[in-house]
Amino acid sequence: MNYDLIVVGMGPSAVFLAYELIQLNNYKNILLIDQGKPVQERFCPIEKIGKCAKCKPHCNITCGFSGAGAFSDGKLNSYHLSSGNKDGSFYLGGNGAEYFRKYFNEQEIYDLLVYTDSVYLKFGADEKLYGLEYRDKIKKIQDKACKEGLNLISYPIRHLGTEKAHVLYEKLENYLKEHKINMLFETEVIDLIINDGIVSGVKLHNIKENTYYDLMSSKVVLAVGRKGASWLSNMCKKYNITTKIGSIDIGIRYELPNKVMSKINKYMYEGKFIGTPYPYGDKVRTFCQNPGGFVSSEVYDNSLTLVNGHSYKNKKSANTNLAILVSHNFTYPFDKPIEYGENVAQNLNRLGGNSIMVQRLGDIYRGKRTWPNDLKNNSVKPTLKSAIPGDLTYGLGYRTMTDILQFIRNVDKVVEGFADPDNLLYGPEIKFYSNEIVLDKNLQTNIEGLYSIGDGGGLTTGLMMASCSGIVMARILTKNMKCT
Ligand SMILES: Cc1cc2nc3c(=O)[nH]c(=O)nc-3n(C[C@H](O)[C@H](O)[C@H](O)COP(=O)(O)OP(=O)(O)OC[C@H]3O[C@@H](n4cnc5c(N)ncnc54)[C@H](O)[C@@H]3O)c2cc1C
Repeated sequence: MNYDLIVVGMGPSAVFLAYELIQLNNYKNILLIDQGKPVQERFCPIEKIGKCAKCKPHCNITCGFSGAGAFSDGKLNSYHLSSGNKDGSFYLGGNGAEYFRKYFNEQEIYDLLVYTDSVYLKFGADEKLYGLEYRDKIKKIQDKACKEGLNLISYPIRHLGTEKAHVLYEKLENYLKEHKINMLFETEVIDLIINDGIVSGVKLHNIKENTYYDLMSSKVVLAVGRKGASWLSNMCKKYNITTKIGSIDIGIRYELPNKVMSKINKYMYEGKFIGTPYPYGDKVRTFCQNPGGFVSSEVYDNSLTLVNGHSYKNKKSANTNLAILVSHNFTYPFDKPIEYGENVAQNLNRLGGNSIMVQRLGDIYRGKRTWPNDLKNNSVKPTLKSAIPGDLTYGLGYRTMTDILQFIRNVDKVVEGFADPDNLLYGPEIKFYSNEIVLDKNLQTNIEGLYSIGDGGGLTTGLMMASCSGIVMARILTKNMKCT
């Protein structure tokens, strides 16, 4: 069977690629493939049974239509010029910033962000933008942070909410179906077909029927997300797809009372603190802050369980959670950041009996593990009930742990109570986007006809930029693609 275009993965990057091809009226024979299920069939049993069921064959949180976006709480970093930043600039996160700034001018990037945002609005995103109303108050906190060697980034944020994100992506799925985009679910792409530096198709495994077959196309877009990062890394080795060693972000999910974070939550919704704490000077940052949110877990390849967090639009907890991530940049001769991260996760998972581990900050300071009784008497109650109290310091490297603890002390000088002993650390939280594929202007790899978008190839690290990369891909393909 021949297709004009095959897209591996159905996360936001792939969904926005398909959406934009429809707008450009330039699609006929396009196929999207995902190992997970349609969005309306995706459920995470953790709320019902109280613990991660390690869904087989693939985690429902990260796989299926809209990928990791379906259960994300959908904070869209809008980066509008209207944010009121004096220089009128916008902040681009992730490696994608380098790509976009190299090949697009400011106006083009701005237009792309606004356009992508408008698609989210069209399918039901909340109109409200956080971070615009309290500019003066935000400036005061930023100045305080600056004195402590911390950069507090403030750009507008739109919050979809976990339950609403699901509904929004279902509408998008129906829209693609109505426009006759072919979608194959519960089908793994197990290999690529590449000969003499040219791609010609993919090898598939239909999970339900347990059948194996090939599908052909001279254009294949890889949109495999962090879930597919390890598989993609193997493909890169097998077919000499050029990559650079990216950094890997390893850290913890931090949970503390809403009242400690009340100002940041109210003024900004999400505060992105970035520091380089003593003595290593590594980049440490807060990421994915969820006011009134819930800590969650998700399962990756090799059954690795990682922690994450999200927040609903209406259902609220008494806590705020956020990631504290340390960027690890390995130097010669070590060049396997993904394997390093997997080892850290594996160790922590074993120590936690294959569950997420949780520890009180005060217990880390006192050099003791946290016991169930310590949690019972703790003022901050964990929102991830299945987390096992234990000792994270057995599994996280000395450097990572030192970076995190020093960073917490520094932020405490800006946000009083940030270093309270009752605050909770969950681990491991790891972002697998370190396999950075080298792409040309057309988002093409060194293999002819093989493209990469979204988080999996290390281009992006979040919903907004992943979606933007899909739109850019569609526009590039439309210029170059002749449909049958
Ligand atoms: C709990 C949670 C909360 C989050 N909150 C936010 C947030 O608030 N704001 C934000 O910006 N970002 C957030 N994120 C991150 C965001 O979801 C991702 O950045 C985004 O989904 C990346 O999109 P993508 O298209 O690159 O890949 P993904 O969404 O990861 O999708 C990749 C898809 O590819 C499929 N796939 C992979 N390999 C294969 C294969 N070999 N064969 C077939 N299919 C394959 C997977 O099943 C998956 O469906 C969150 C993520 C999670 C899990």
